Amino acid sequence: MIPTIEYVQQKFREFNVTMFDGRLPEPPISITNAKTYLGVCAFRKHRKWHGRLEYSDFKIRISRRFDLPQNEIDDTIIHEMIHYYIGLFSPADMPGHSPLFRKMMADINERFGRHISVSHRLSKEQQEQAIDNRPKKHVVASVVLKDGRTGIKVIPCMERHIRRYRRGMMASGKVSSIEFFETTDPFFNRFPSSSAFTVYFPDPDVLAQHLPDSSRE
Ligand SMILES: [Zn+2]
Repeated sequence: MIPTIEYVQQKFREFNVTMFDGRLPEPPISITNAKTYLGVCAFRKHRKWHGRLEYSDFKIRISRRFDLPQNEIDDTIIHEMIHYYIGLFSPADMPGHSPLFRKMMADINERFGRHISVSHRLSKEQQEQAIDNRPKKHVVASVVLKDGRTGIKVIPCMERHIRRYRRGMMASGKVSSIEFFETTDPFFNRFPSSSAFTVYFPDPDVLAQHLPDSSRE
Protein backbone atom coordinates (compact mmCIF):
# COMPACT_ATOMS: atom_id res chain seq x y z
CA MET A 1 0.00 0.00 0.00
CA ILE A 2 0.99 3.63 -0.50
CA PRO A 3 0.59 5.65 2.72
CA THR A 4 -1.54 8.79 2.83
CA ILE A 5 -1.41 11.59 5.40
CA GLU A 6 -4.76 10.48 6.80
CA TYR A 7 -3.49 6.93 7.21
CA VAL A 8 -0.29 7.98 8.98
CA GLN A 9 -2.21 10.37 11.29
CA GLN A 10 -4.70 7.69 12.19
CA LYS A 11 -1.93 5.17 12.93
CA PHE A 12 0.04 7.77 14.89
CA ARG A 13 -2.99 8.33 17.17
CA GLU A 14 -3.62 4.62 17.57
CA PHE A 15 0.02 3.72 18.39
CA ASN A 16 0.38 6.76 20.63
CA VAL A 17 -2.38 5.38 22.87
CA THR A 18 -1.42 1.69 22.73
CA MET A 19 2.38 1.97 22.82
CA PHE A 20 3.37 5.41 24.14
CA ASP A 21 0.76 5.98 26.90
CA GLY A 22 -0.69 8.83 24.84
CA ARG A 23 2.30 11.00 25.75
CA LEU A 24 3.19 12.20 22.27
CA PRO A 25 1.72 15.52 21.11
CA GLU A 26 0.77 15.19 17.47
CA PRO A 27 3.60 16.55 15.29
CA PRO A 28 3.25 17.79 11.72
CA ILE A 29 3.12 14.69 9.52
CA SER A 30 3.91 14.78 5.83
CA ILE A 31 4.15 12.37 2.97
CA THR A 32 7.19 12.87 0.78
CA ASN A 33 8.58 11.49 -2.46
CA ALA A 34 11.93 10.65 -0.89
CA LYS A 35 13.75 7.68 -2.29
CA THR A 36 16.48 7.67 0.36
CA TYR A 37 14.30 6.76 3.33
CA LEU A 38 11.02 5.11 4.24
CA GLY A 39 10.47 7.43 7.15
CA VAL A 40 12.31 10.11 9.06
CA CYS A 41 11.79 12.03 12.27
CA ALA A 42 13.16 15.50 11.55
CA PHE A 43 13.96 18.01 14.30
CA ARG A 44 15.88 21.15 15.16
CA LYS A 45 18.84 20.90 17.45
CA HIS A 46 19.94 23.62 19.92
CA ARG A 47 22.83 23.70 22.32
CA LYS A 48 21.81 25.06 25.71
CA TRP A 49 24.03 27.31 27.83
CA HIS A 50 25.09 24.33 29.93
CA GLY A 51 26.27 22.57 26.78
CA ARG A 52 23.49 20.00 26.54
CA LEU A 53 21.60 19.48 23.35
CA GLU A 54 17.89 20.09 23.14
CA TYR A 55 15.57 19.12 20.32
CA SER A 56 12.43 20.77 19.01
CA ASP A 57 10.18 21.20 15.96
CA PHE A 58 9.73 17.51 15.42
CA LYS A 59 8.21 16.44 12.13
CA ILE A 60 7.45 12.95 10.93
CA ARG A 61 7.87 12.28 7.24
CA ILE A 62 6.91 9.07 5.51
CA SER A 63 7.84 8.37 1.89
CA ARG A 64 5.19 7.35 -0.60
CA ARG A 65 7.87 6.15 -3.00
CA PHE A 66 7.70 2.54 -1.82
CA ASP A 67 4.74 0.23 -2.13
CA LEU A 68 5.15 -1.78 1.07
CA PRO A 69 2.90 -4.17 2.96
CA GLN A 70 0.81 -2.40 5.60
CA ASN A 71 2.68 -3.94 8.55
CA GLU A 72 6.00 -2.59 7.20
CA ILE A 73 4.55 0.89 6.84
CA ASP A 74 3.20 0.63 10.39
CA ASP A 75 6.63 -0.51 11.65
CA THR A 76 8.18 2.52 9.93
CA ILE A 77 5.69 4.86 11.63
CA ILE A 78 6.44 3.30 15.05
CA HIS A 79 10.19 3.50 14.39
CA GLU A 80 9.89 7.27 13.82
CA MET A 81 7.64 7.60 16.87
CA ILE A 82 10.39 6.06 19.04
CA HIS A 83 12.84 8.71 17.75
CA TYR A 84 10.23 11.37 18.53
CA TYR A 85 9.59 10.01 22.03
CA ILE A 86 13.30 9.96 22.86
CA GLY A 87 13.76 13.47 21.42
CA LEU A 88 11.00 14.79 23.69
CA PHE A 89 11.64 12.89 26.89
CA SER A 90 15.25 11.72 26.83
CA PRO A 91 17.28 14.04 24.59
CA ALA A 92 20.56 12.75 26.03
CA ASP A 93 19.79 9.49 24.21
CA MET A 94 19.50 11.25 20.85
CA PRO A 95 20.33 11.03 18.05
CA GLY A 96 20.32 7.78 16.15
CA HIS A 97 19.73 4.24 17.32
CA SER A 98 21.07 4.55 20.86
CA PRO A 99 20.83 1.79 23.49
CA LEU A 100 17.56 3.38 24.70
CA PHE A 101 16.19 3.33 21.16
CA ARG A 102 17.06 -0.35 20.82
CA LYS A 103 15.53 -1.15 24.21
CA MET A 104 12.24 0.59 23.39
CA MET A 105 12.17 -1.06 19.99
CA ALA A 106 12.75 -4.52 21.49
CA ASP A 107 10.01 -3.92 24.12
CA ILE A 108 7.47 -2.86 21.51
CA ASN A 109 8.41 -5.74 19.21
CA GLU A 110 7.88 -8.18 22.06
CA ARG A 111 4.72 -6.72 23.55
CA PHE A 112 2.95 -6.05 20.26
CA GLY A 113 4.43 -8.73 17.99
CA ARG A 114 5.98 -6.15 15.68
CA HIS A 115 9.14 -6.38 13.54
CA ILE A 116 10.62 -2.93 13.85
CA SER A 117 14.31 -2.79 12.97
CA VAL A 118 17.04 -0.16 13.00
CA SER A 119 17.78 -0.51 9.33
CA HIS A 120 15.04 -1.24 6.94
CA ARG A 121 16.55 -3.13 4.06
CA LEU A 122 14.79 -2.42 0.82
CA SER A 123 14.59 -5.20 -1.70
CA LYS A 124 16.16 -4.66 -5.11
CA GLU A 125 12.70 -4.33 -6.59
CA GLN A 126 11.74 -1.64 -4.08
CA GLN A 127 14.94 0.28 -4.82
CA GLU A 128 14.29 0.12 -8.54
CA GLN A 129 10.80 1.37 -7.93
CA ALA A 130 12.25 4.36 -6.13
CA ILE A 131 14.36 5.38 -9.07
CA ASP A 132 13.51 8.76 -10.45
CA ASN A 133 11.06 8.27 -13.28
CA ARG A 134 11.06 11.79 -14.63
CA PRO A 135 12.16 12.01 -18.27
CA LYS A 136 15.62 13.53 -18.64
CA LYS A 137 17.73 13.93 -21.72
CA HIS A 138 20.68 11.56 -21.88
CA VAL A 139 23.29 10.59 -24.38
CA VAL A 140 23.74 6.85 -24.23
CA ALA A 141 26.59 4.91 -25.76
CA SER A 142 25.64 1.48 -26.99
CA VAL A 143 28.91 -0.44 -26.79
CA VAL A 144 29.50 -3.75 -28.58
CA LEU A 145 32.47 -5.63 -27.19
CA LYS A 146 34.67 -7.98 -29.18
CA ASP A 147 33.42 -10.83 -26.98
CA GLY A 148 29.91 -10.20 -28.38
CA ARG A 149 28.27 -8.57 -25.39
CA THR A 150 26.37 -5.27 -25.73
CA GLY A 151 26.51 -2.79 -22.91
CA ILE A 152 25.67 0.82 -22.32
CA LYS A 153 27.10 3.91 -20.73
CA VAL A 154 25.23 7.13 -19.96
CA ILE A 155 27.31 10.18 -20.84
CA PRO A 156 26.69 13.88 -20.13
CA CYS A 157 25.16 15.61 -23.17
CA MET A 158 28.41 17.35 -24.15
CA GLU A 159 30.44 16.83 -27.26
CA ARG A 160 33.79 16.66 -25.45
CA HIS A 161 32.55 13.95 -23.04
CA ILE A 162 31.23 11.91 -25.93
CA ARG A 163 34.50 12.24 -27.87
CA ARG A 164 36.57 11.44 -24.78
CA TYR A 165 34.52 8.32 -24.07
CA ARG A 166 34.73 7.06 -27.65
CA ARG A 167 38.49 7.62 -27.76
CA GLY A 168 39.14 5.96 -24.39
CA MET A 169 36.97 2.96 -25.08
CA MET A 170 38.34 2.31 -28.56
CA ALA A 171 41.87 2.55 -27.12
CA SER A 172 41.05 -0.27 -24.69
CA GLY A 173 41.19 -2.77 -27.58
CA LYS A 174 38.11 -4.60 -26.26
CA VAL A 175 35.46 -2.67 -28.14
CA SER A 176 34.30 -3.51 -31.63
CA SER A 177 31.86 -0.61 -32.07
CA ILE A 178 30.21 2.28 -30.24
CA GLU A 179 27.04 4.06 -31.29
CA PHE A 180 25.60 7.07 -29.50
CA PHE A 181 21.96 8.01 -29.25
CA GLU A 182 19.90 10.62 -27.43
CA THR A 183 17.01 9.49 -25.31
CA THR A 184 14.62 10.66 -22.58
CA ASP A 185 13.73 7.08 -21.61
CA PRO A 186 13.69 7.08 -17.74
CA PHE A 187 15.19 3.57 -17.84
CA PHE A 188 18.57 5.25 -18.23
CA ASN A 189 18.15 7.44 -15.12
CA ARG A 190 19.46 4.62 -12.94
CA PHE A 191 22.94 4.63 -14.51
CA PRO A 192 25.58 7.13 -13.42
CA SER A 193 26.20 9.81 -16.01
CA SER A 194 29.91 10.45 -16.63
CA SER A 195 32.60 9.95 -19.22
CA ALA A 196 34.37 7.29 -17.12
CA PHE A 197 35.56 4.39 -19.28
CA THR A 198 33.08 1.84 -17.98
CA VAL A 199 30.26 -0.18 -19.50
CA TYR A 200 27.10 -1.48 -17.79
CA PHE A 201 25.52 -4.73 -18.83
CA PRO A 202 21.81 -4.76 -17.96
CA ASP A 203 19.85 -7.92 -18.69
CA PRO A 204 20.06 -8.18 -22.53
CA ASP A 205 16.30 -8.75 -22.92
CA VAL A 206 15.53 -5.71 -20.82
CA LEU A 207 18.14 -3.61 -22.58
CA ALA A 208 16.81 -4.55 -26.01
CA GLN A 209 13.52 -2.88 -25.09
CA HIS A 210 15.28 0.40 -24.44
CA LEU A 211 17.79 0.59 -27.28
CA PRO A 212 16.57 2.34 -30.42
CA ASP A 213 15.87 -0.07 -33.30
CA SER A 214 18.31 1.75 -35.52
CA SER A 215 21.16 2.24 -33.13
CA ARG A 216 23.33 0.62 -35.76
CA GLU A 217 23.45 2.64 -38.90
ZN1 LIG B 1 15.90 5.48 12.86
